[in-house]
Amino acid sequence: MSFSQRIESLPSTSILTIRRLKNLDIKTYWDLLHYFPFRYEDHSIVSSIQHLQEGEKVTVKGTVVWAKNEFTRRGLKIQKVILADDTGKITLTWYNQPYLIRLLSPGTHLAASGEIKKYGATLTMEPKEYDVLKTIDQETIHTGRLVPIYPEKKGLSSRTLREKIFFILKDYTATDGHAMQEIFPEEIIRFNDLIEESVAYQNIHFPKSKELAKKARQRLAFDELFIIQFAARLVRQEWEKEAVGNRIQTKPYEPQLNAFMRNLPFELTNAQKKVLREILLDIFKKYPMNRFLQGDVGSGKTVVAAIVAYLAFLNRFQTLFMAPTTILAQQHFQTLTYLFKNYPVSIALQTGARKTKHLDKNHIVVGTHALLSQKFLMRNVGFVVIDEQHRFGVRQRALLKAKGINPHLLTMTATPIPRTVALTLYGELDISHLDEMPKGRIPVQTFLVPKEKRRAAYDWITKKVKQESAQVFIVCPLIEQSDHETMQSVKAAKIEYEYLSRKIFPDFKVELLHGKLKTKEKEEIMNNFARGALHILVTTSVVEVGIDIPQATIMIVEGAERFGLAQLHQLRGRIGRSTKQSYCFLFTEKEDPHIVRRLNYFSRNTNGMRIAEYDLEVRGPGEIYGTRQHGYLDLKIATFADYPMIEKTKNAVEYLLKKYKLSAFPALKKRVNEYQIEQVTRD
Ligand code: ADP
Ligand code: MG
Repeated sequence: MSFSQRIESLPSTSILTIRRLKNLDIKTYWDLLHYFPFRYEDHSIVSSIQHLQEGEKVTVKGTVVWAKNEFTRRGLKIQKVILADDTGKITLTWYNQPYLIRLLSPGTHLAASGEIKKYGATLTMEPKEYDVLKTIDQETIHTGRLVPIYPEKKGLSSRTLREKIFFILKDYTATDGHAMQEIFPEEIIRFNDLIEESVAYQNIHFPKSKELAKKARQRLAFDELFIIQFAARLVRQEWEKEAVGNRIQTKPYEPQLNAFMRNLPFELTNAQKKVLREILLDIFKKYPMNRFLQGDVGSGKTVVAAIVAYLAFLNRFQTLFMAPTTILAQQHFQTLTYLFKNYPVSIALQTGARKTKHLDKNHIVVGTHALLSQKFLMRNVGFVVIDEQHRFGVRQRALLKAKGINPHLLTMTATPIPRTVALTLYGELDISHLDEMPKGRIPVQTFLVPKEKRRAAYDWITKKVKQESAQVFIVCPLIEQSDHETMQSVKAAKIEYEYLSRKIFPDFKVELLHGKLKTKEKEEIMNNFARGALHILVTTSVVEVGIDIPQATIMIVEGAERFGLAQLHQLRGRIGRSTKQSYCFLFTEKEDPHIVRRLNYFSRNTNGMRIAEYDLEVRGPGEIYGTRQHGYLDLKIATFADYPMIEKTKNAVEYLLKKYKLSAFPALKKRVNEYQIEQVTRD
């Protein structure tokens, strides 16, 4: 048997179960083995019936002597079974599972786990779990042990998962065990106090003791973090082997560069200067830069990229500047056009709606990420900026290379990536951090508004708009995921828009902006808002990234509890961009103290990194970016909160790379390859 076997070959497994497993992306035995339990139910005490005590949680084993369906007057079906061992009898009851009676006919061997109750002299149990046994000594799956409890998603029960995984592990130990060779050299195992991998897989699912369950979890978490970091390091090594023909020099162009910086409308912050130095060192190297720039909303990433683009221009290279949306691309185009207005740098905007002829004649081309997959002819690209993307995948890099260019890359994001996450997932990148805001920014004041104060908040906003011509973003709740739900989201926004424009703000110009509008319509609405022709913009979370409208000083977020804090932080970054005080109102109908605490934390804090780290602790990594589309963030068993483990695995990766060749460890090599393939198909 092999772990690469497909789940279709699992014995006595219904088509429905197969389908459900596939819905969870479980296709092979190996995948199934990596569906880990999140806790165990302790049914490990097995007791003879004679010694049972009221209130005990135990497993009893015996033979069925009597079994019957009974009906109550209310029509409820009760399954009553009398189980006997050598020492006595116990009555077992289930509810509404009439098929059990057929399964448990007299003579059947049975193990059942649950709490013992006594009615007079009669012992009873409502079993939480049971095993039908061929022989009384047969190994139990659901009883008589620490029983794994799995996340029950897409209609799969723990019981089903347990049976399938039990089968795989059983079958595996019964065969020669070839399928699971140790992946690490002896000293890594010893130094990190790890248990053997095959023991770990057994004990994560069917632990012999709590101690072993813990050790199993540690071992598999170690594996997971190790593989991720190791793969990243390999990518990095490959990257560093690439020779570029486009080293970008600073020295000969220093006078021009300094003049450019002097003529900027502001002085660069120290953080901007520091990051710039890091980049200038990188782009002079023999291999392409692969740098990731993190900086809170408004920290001034664009201008840093623009300075580098200018230097690339001086070196006679072209720059590609990509943003996630057309609106943002447009905005970058405007910003760059403004910054370069006194320089002989030609800039083109290339979007779905606007195509430029003779692109190759331009020094800078701005567009969406779609530029990557477009056929365009630019021979001399030396620098590529990818804005608001968390990860520049292997696949995207390949797209650039397929175009025959191998430029220096700068990926930028305002999403704060906690250190542990960055260390783990971004091992192939160099990371820069703009950890300082331009002077004179006034932090946004944020308020959590419970439903009884909503009216007052609307009134206050009405006054502000009337008296100070403040402009307002109203962000509708995020209803995520499927297309269907996107539509729901749009619908919610429409309803909200109707209500607000008629009932709450009848005197103001209110518009609705959502993701399903045509690009042209979106542009028009954004432009109207930007030039002050609209007071209030009702939107879905499409305003999340990058938009720069300084006069907008008020934001309402509806259903604030639905957003991850890092996302809320990005939303909030749309305001607070002028010299006036800005205000953010978080509306929630929820009174759950956890929700209130989270949102209060957010209201009191303005540092994006701290907010992201807090949310990582409280809600897990999915919340940093929103969900699904960033599936790669979902560690299966390790956690980003476990800094010591991340550190340990990082050291182990470095040790192995230094001391050995990967080819010395075929099992590890195979594992890493599989992980890489998974990554590429996911990107
Ligand atoms: P982000 O990092 O969120 O992309 P931007 O690059 O859009 O931020 O910059 C936000 C605003 O700050 C822009 O209007 C930009 O001109 C301005 N800005 C950038 N750097 C500075 C600075 N050093 N001093 C003052 N304003 C700056
Ligand atoms: Mg930006």
